[in-house]
Amino acid sequence: MGQTHISNRLYYGNFINGIWKDSNESLAVFDKYSGEEIATIAIASKEEVREAVKNSYETFQAAKLSPMQRYEILLKTVEIVKQRKEELALTIVEESGKALKDARSEIDRGIQTLIASAEEAKRITGQGIPLGQPGNDNKIAFTIRVPVGVIGAITPFNFPFNLVVHKIGLAIAAGNTVVLKPAEKTPIISCLLVEIFMEAGLPKGFLNLINGNGHTTGQYMLEDERIAMYTFTGSPLVGRQIKNNTGIRKVTLELGNNSPNIVHHDAADLDRAVELCVTRGFSNAGQACISVQRVYVHKDIYHAFVDKAIQLTGTLKVGDPKDPETDIGPLISEKEAIRVEEWLQEPRDRGASIYGGEREGAFLHPAIVTNVSKDMRVICEEVFAPVIGITPYETIEEAFEMANDTPFGLQAGVFTSNLNIAMEASHKLNFGCVIINDVSTFRADVMPYGGVKDSGVGKEGPRFAVQEMTDERNIVINL
Ligand code: NAD
Repeated sequence: MGQTHISNRLYYGNFINGIWKDSNESLAVFDKYSGEEIATIAIASKEEVREAVKNSYETFQAAKLSPMQRYEILLKTVEIVKQRKEELALTIVEESGKALKDARSEIDRGIQTLIASAEEAKRITGQGIPLGQPGNDNKIAFTIRVPVGVIGAITPFNFPFNLVVHKIGLAIAAGNTVVLKPAEKTPIISCLLVEIFMEAGLPKGFLNLINGNGHTTGQYMLEDERIAMYTFTGSPLVGRQIKNNTGIRKVTLELGNNSPNIVHHDAADLDRAVELCVTRGFSNAGQACISVQRVYVHKDIYHAFVDKAIQLTGTLKVGDPKDPETDIGPLISEKEAIRVEEWLQEPRDRGASIYGGEREGAFLHPAIVTNVSKDMRVICEEVFAPVIGITPYETIEEAFEMANDTPFGLQAGVFTSNLNIAMEASHKLNFGCVIINDVSTFRADVMPYGGVKDSGVGKEGPRFAVQEMTDERNIVINL
C-alpha cells in the first residue's frame, strides 16, 4: 500500500509506474473542521512530474487495454468503491469539511459516473462518411475514434471524488493513460482512488498521480509537451493560465459560475421552488460551481418567497460535518470565510438586508441578501459560499436580461408552468444548460456538462467526455 505512517499521520508520495515514491518536499493536509493535521503529501518537483509523464507516455506507446478490459476494470472499481463507501465518505468529510450527507451523495454519484464510464468504453465508434461527389465512386470513407494519448487531469477541492472520477474514469474508458494532480487541499481521496483502481486490475502506468501545489507541480505539468490533452476543473483564473500555457494542445475547462435562477409568478409550486433554491444554494456550503447564487423572483410572489426562504434557512443545521444531521459544514478554509465576510460587508454598507452571514472561524452561516445591486460582488462574481441574493423583477424579459448579465454561462434554472416562457428561456438564456422547474444546481452525471463564456470550453459527462478524449480519424479506402 502507498501510505506510510509518519508518527501518527499518513504520508502519500507520488504514484508513478505502480509504486508510491517520496519527494524531498511535502505539504500538510488538515481536517477542515478540527484543524488537526491528518496527512502529509509530497510536493512533486519538476523532475518527478517529468518522470510521471514519461511513464504515462511510454505506457501509452507500449500497452493497450481492450474495451472489454477497460469495462471490467471500471466495474471492478465500482465494486470496491461500494464496499468502502463509508470510509471514502468520511475521508471527504475530513479533508474537505463537507457535510456527511453531501459526502455520501458524492460517493453515490461517483459510482454512477464509474458505471457510465464502463459502459462508454464499449461503445466508442466513428461514423460512415458518404462520398457522393463525382469522381469518388470507387472510394469509401469512415471515421474511427482513437485515444489522444497522455491526459493531464487537474482537479479542484470541492468535489474531490466525483470530479476526479469524471476525468480519470473517462480517460481510461477512452483508452488513454492519465497523470492526475488532485487539489492540494483534498488529495487523500484521490490517493485512495488510485489504489482502488490498482486493486481493480488497472495495470501500472495507466494512472499516475502527482501531488503538490498548483503554481509549482501543476505548472510543471503544463510545460510537458508529452501531455496531449488537459482536462481541468477549477477557477476561471487558473483555467485561463492553463489555456495560455498549453499552446495548440487540447483542453477541456470546467470553470465557475454565479448561477441565476428565475422564479416566475406562475411557478407551479412555490414552496418547492423555495426549498430547492435554499437547499441547493447552501448544500456543500455553497461551494459548487452551479450553486444557486442569484435568484430573480417575480414581484407578485417576491415577499412570500423571501419570507419562506428565510424561514427555511433558519432550520438548517450548521456544525460538525461528521454529524449526519448537519446541513452545512465549514468552508474549505478560514481565509475563504473571511473573504466572504468581507464581500458581505459591501451590501451591508450599501443598505441591503442580510439574514445570517455570521462567521465563526471557517464557518459561514447561510446568508440571504435582499435589496442587492447587480454590481455588488456577492452578485456579479462567483461567491462560492452559502450566500444567495434575491432580486424582484416585473417582466420575464427583465429577468432574462439580469440572468444573462454575467461573464459566466454554466447553468441556469427557471421555474414556470408556461410552456412558451420555458421555451423562450431555453433559447434566450446563454448558458451551457437551462433547467426548467429545477435549480441551476441540478446535474445528472450522464448529461453533457460544460459552460459558455468564462465558464469554460468542452463538455464532461461520460458520452461527451469520450468525444473530447479521443481524436476522430478519417479513413479513406480507394477500392
Ligand atoms: P483552483 O483553480 O484554485 O484549483 C484547481 C486545481 O488547479 C488545483 O488542483 C490547483 O492545484 C490547480 N492549479 C492552480 N494553479 C495552477 C497552475 N498555475 N497550473 C496548473 N494547475 C494549477 O480551484 P479550486 O479553488 O480548487 O476550486 C474552486 C473553483 O472550481 C471554483 O471557481 C468553481 O466554480 C470551480 N469548479 C468548477 C466546476 C465545473 O464543473 N465547472 C466544478 C467544480 C468547481
